[in-house]
Amino acid sequence: MISKILKNETYIGTLIQGKFKKPVRKQKKMVKTDKEDWKIVENHHEAIIDKDIFDTVQNMLNFSIAAQDEEEFLISKLECAECNSGFYRKKAKNYYYYICKSKYRKLGCNLQPIRKDILDELVLLNINDKFKLTYKKLNKNLIDKYVDSIKIYDSNEVEVVYKSDK
Ligand SMILES: [Zn+2]
Repeated sequence: MISKILKNETYIGTLIQGKFKKPVRKQKKMVKTDKEDWKIVENHHEAIIDKDIFDTVQNMLNFSIAAQDEEEFLISKLECAECNSGFYRKKAKNYYYYICKSKYRKLGCNLQPIRKDILDELVLLNINDKFKLTYKKLNKNLIDKYVDSIKIYDSNEVEVVYKSDK
């Protein structure tokens, strides 16, 4: 809802006219026009949200979408050691968890969900240790470069399978 509101230029005082036009014949319905036909009058009315803030928020929204995608790089590598399924990422209370797809669908797997931050940390430590690196945070390039797959046995036992070991 908030993102919808903040994407609406009316809030920064821009008037957009001509979004609809009366059709040629006497139809009652309004017809949507092409964006090129709109007349856009900036500063038409006093802004409800300051334009700088509006622009900043637009950038933040774009950034948070990008950040979300960034979070997904690990999930494609995960394998359940119990049933070989992949994983979903779910939020519960304040934490993200990875949960085995088969467990999630109640198809018989008993693997407990693993907290995302804990798994990230385990994988990071493992990579740093293995390749004598000192990364503070996981990133997509690091995972793509070294990691073939990550087997989850339980929340304390994770096996990182490296491309170089295959
Ligand atoms: Zn499973």
